Amino acid sequence: MSKPRKTFFRNVRIAILLAILCGVALTTWREKRQIASWKEPLLVGVYPVAGESSDVVREYVAAVSAESFAGLEPFFQREAARFEIAASPAVLVEVGPEVKELPPPPPEPSDRTMTSVALWSLRLRWWNWRAASKYGLGPADVRLFAIYHAPIAGRTLEHSIGLERVRVGVAHLFASKEEDRTNEVVVAHELLHLVGASDKYDARGQPVHPEGYGAPNASPLHPQEIAEIMAGRLAISANEAKIPPSLDQCVVGPRTAQEIGWSTGATP
Ligand SMILES: [Zn+2]
Repeated sequence: MSKPRKTFFRNVRIAILLAILCGVALTTWREKRQIASWKEPLLVGVYPVAGESSDVVREYVAAVSAESFAGLEPFFQREAARFEIAASPAVLVEVGPEVKELPPPPPEPSDRTMTSVALWSLRLRWWNWRAASKYGLGPADVRLFAIYHAPIAGRTLEHSIGLERVRVGVAHLFASKEEDRTNEVVVAHELLHLVGASDKYDARGQPVHPEGYGAPNASPLHPQEIAEIMAGRLAISANEAKIPPSLDQCVVGPRTAQEIGWSTGATP
């Protein structure tokens, strides 16, 4: 191929790529504006995925239903009402269908650079788009893939992740009815990441005071009885924290409310 032709095709390729990137950026911006207004309920799709092929997990995943996440809508309704949000309900949750493949895994923590994370987020975007058509996922503003693992005593699960720009989250949960209520805490936390909330715990996993405390002005301060959902844990003492038993012991704190567009900064 002659040199001017080569240059021409290269420019065409770059122009197409730029157009795609602009398109993605514009769509993301429009969706963000629409969600941030909270005038309409946020449509949330939660899809169970078997994280491993044991019988326990497969049977549990086959039985996941709206009941498994029944606490989500009331939690968001109660918390949105405190911040006088117009949308009622604030969040509509649709559960299922099952997705029979795992999303692409995030890069290993040792390999987490801006480029590796950006590439993974593109892969996740593509995977989400393909899974939506392959498994017939309904329309949703944000999607959360609930990956279930066998509940083994002492087992810790991989970190759940919510990518705001992609509006897709991956939650690692225990396949057990007894864990349904704590699973909801994990799912609500990841959902809030998808609409702009940041974590409120430190490197040790300890809630940060005051924004990571459900009752930051309580006296005595510890043990806390209410958890801030983006801290995800109840501070028992300055150095100990535990996952709250259910969303009944969680609140959306003022800082999180600000981040997701529920408040302009005043405490309700
Ligand atoms: Zn988080």
